[in-house]
Amino acid sequence: MALRTCRSLFRRAAAIRNVKTELRDELSAQLGESVKFGASLASLSTYRVGGPAEALFEPCSAEDVSLGLRTAATLEIPWIVVGLGSNILAADEGFAGLVIRMGQRLADVARDEDDDSLWTVGAGLPTPLLAKQTAAAGLEGVHRLIGVPGTVGGGVFMNAGAHAQEFRDVVTWVDVVAHDGTRSRIPGDSIPWRYRSSGLDGVVVATQISLQRGDPHDLLRDVKNYLRWRKRGTPFDRPCCGSVFRNPTAEQLTERVDEVGSPPTAGRLIDAAGLKGFRVGGAEVSPMHANYIVNTGDATARDVTSVIETVRTRVLDRFGIDLQLEVRLLHQGSRREDS
Ligand SMILES: Cc1cc2nc3c(=O)[nH]c(=O)nc-3n(C[C@H](O)[C@H](O)[C@H](O)COP(=O)(O)OP(=O)(O)OC[C@H]3O[C@@H](n4cnc5c(N)ncnc54)[C@H](O)[C@@H]3O)c2cc1C
Repeated sequence: MALRTCRSLFRRAAAIRNVKTELRDELSAQLGESVKFGASLASLSTYRVGGPAEALFEPCSAEDVSLGLRTAATLEIPWIVVGLGSNILAADEGFAGLVIRMGQRLADVARDEDDDSLWTVGAGLPTPLLAKQTAAAGLEGVHRLIGVPGTVGGGVFMNAGAHAQEFRDVVTWVDVVAHDGTRSRIPGDSIPWRYRSSGLDGVVVATQISLQRGDPHDLLRDVKNYLRWRKRGTPFDRPCCGSVFRNPTAEQLTERVDEVGSPPTAGRLIDAAGLKGFRVGGAEVSPMHANYIVNTGDATARDVTSVIETVRTRVLDRFGIDLQLEVRLLHQGSRREDS
């Protein structure tokens, strides 16, 4: 390589380093000690894959979240929000922007003084904890979500559900911080809920849920049973993100699905396409549950993506159904995650 080309490459690398340092200094000045640099996204996701986060911010309050989003807007850097990371696939290259992580610092629970079936819950509370606490209080509505291992904020955003209970059935309002840092309260009945989607934009910081009265003894027994059922059918020994694909909608179904049994779930279609155990690198279609692509130990995001592509192609060829992703892909440089 010519000496001049070499020098110009070094100058460019030094300039990028300077910009990065300035950016980090600015983020630290604005967000204080709650921001860290270069944290591994693999350690923030149940998949255990993904490269570093340029900046990781763990807010303590809704005001902090506003500050984080305002700072990202001012510095013109992309941002994403994560909870427990149980439904994300982070890129091997990591994320070149601000990752806002909603966790235990934002996990308060308050019961309404006049009506104790109304609970206001912080976005960082783990959903299984909410399921257990509400059941113990003799309130039903979310107790069957005991095996959904994410935060309440992620659950509301995803409209998570299990055993005929979904967040959309109980949410009365959601407090959301928008991209410009402004906060608003959105009534539950004005949210465009769909299967595994809320259509919300911004960061969920809290929600109020309305529950039905029940018998704590029965509810806690149900919780135990659902958890037992879950453990039997889930490859808990392998890092994963739960179901990778959404179940097909009625409109997507073709005559060719008759052979897979009813209902023709994504898992049944993948199984019938002969893909259980299919593997690329360290990523594998779980032999236990075909809609789970598990990390057998050393999977990269690229391995998981390759398996996803093969599964989609084979199911499309065999059944004429284009499976849609339930897992959210966190792309380097994107402003927000893909849907
Ligand atoms: C073993 C296993 C079993 C599972 N079973 C189920 C199941 O039965 N039913 C089901 O519905 N899901 C299931 N999941 C998927 C997952 O647990 C849920 O989608 C969960 O609600 C995601 O919450 P989270 O906090 O982990 O979100 P993350 O995975 O961190 O994020 C998921 C998405 O939500 C967004 N998000 C997260 N927090 C917020 C917030 N505060 N505000 C705005 N957006 C936010 C993220 O940007 C991302 O797009 C399972 C996952 C695993 C690993």
